Amino acid sequence: MSRVYNFSAGPAVLPEEVLKEAAAEMLDYNGTGMSVMEMSHRSKAFAEIITAAEQDLRDLMQIPDNYKVLFLQGGASQQFAMIPMNLMKNRVADYIITGQWAKKAAKEAEKYGKVNRIASSEDRTFSYIPDCSDLPVSEDADYVYICENNTIYGTKFKTLPNTKGKTLVADVSSCFLSEPVDVTKYGLIYGGVQKNIGPAGVVIVIIREDLITEDVLPGTPTMLTYKTHADANSLYNTPPAYGIYICGKVFKWIKSLGGLEAMKERNEKKAKVLYDFLDQSRLFKGTVEKKDRSLMNVPFVTGDADLDAKFVKEAKAAGLENLKGHRTVGGMRASIYNAMPYEGVVALTDFMKKFEEENL
Ligand SMILES: *Cc1c(COP(=O)(O)O)cnc(C)c1O
Repeated sequence: MSRVYNFSAGPAVLPEEVLKEAAAEMLDYNGTGMSVMEMSHRSKAFAEIITAAEQDLRDLMQIPDNYKVLFLQGGASQQFAMIPMNLMKNRVADYIITGQWAKKAAKEAEKYGKVNRIASSEDRTFSYIPDCSDLPVSEDADYVYICENNTIYGTKFKTLPNTKGKTLVADVSSCFLSEPVDVTKYGLIYGGVQKNIGPAGVVIVIIREDLITEDVLPGTPTMLTYKTHADANSLYNTPPAYGIYICGKVFKWIKSLGGLEAMKERNEKKAKVLYDFLDQSRLFKGTVEKKDRSLMNVPFVTGDADLDAKFVKEAKAAGLENLKGHRTVGGMRASIYNAMPYEGVVALTDFMKKFEEENL
């Protein structure tokens, strides 16, 4: 068996310790004589798994008691509809467009009400985060929506927008648990877990209780109503049980390393290796404004599509996988999530140095 350094944007690398533990428990979870995949979601063993997972997440993010944690399905994309269906009481919402995911979310919300795109960075291919300190937030907006870390373009909001008192809703799929967060600044935080937390199939929603109501848009399905899942502690129907179990293990792994402060330190140290290299390279260059750089997704180019393709191919042969940039951007992208070890980023930059010498 040999593992590669996997720079995939998602589904993405998971901590090896977690995978080994899961493997060891595959046939017999904790003396139950069965795999977590095979057990009832109403069993005592699973009740303990989901309760511990929620508590560990609450501890890590210091989630206040007036927020619910929901483990749902449908991926992040399902939230593009679920958010307006549940939150658009006035049928108006403001969206800040910093990439494809925010764009898609805004387009979906338009099915349910009026969407105001109050800021955008599309004019320069989403290579920066617009100034959001004094935006024309709509009087009657039900919420202001952001995609906090832009997986495809590699930008991140370093300060949250001034929503002028309106509820902030954030897609944190690709920066979930990468650094400390002040949950009280948001009405709703959500993310698909397959970027930074666990296997595809789970989406986590952290929502302030006053936003959970029966007063949803007419026709909203039971399964797409937050209250359904909040009232049932995510067990209204069969949840993505095995995925939740893996997420729980990742929460414990993060706790064992010192929590989100420690994650941030690790992630800054890793990202610095790559960004410092890019800033002095004569062949490669980063594509994003420095002040807005993501710690998680690092896009870069040589400026020559053929050379980019050669790089991706040779990197793969050297055990550095999934470095091809998103199909809409081209070039390369290294996703260096929580579970990517420091050594992986060093191996990548060493390889880039060698490639630069050979190809300049
Ligand atoms: C991957 C991603 C999505 C889409 O997630 P799915 O679970 O595939 O629907 C949405 N937003 C962001 C920021 C992402 O990175």
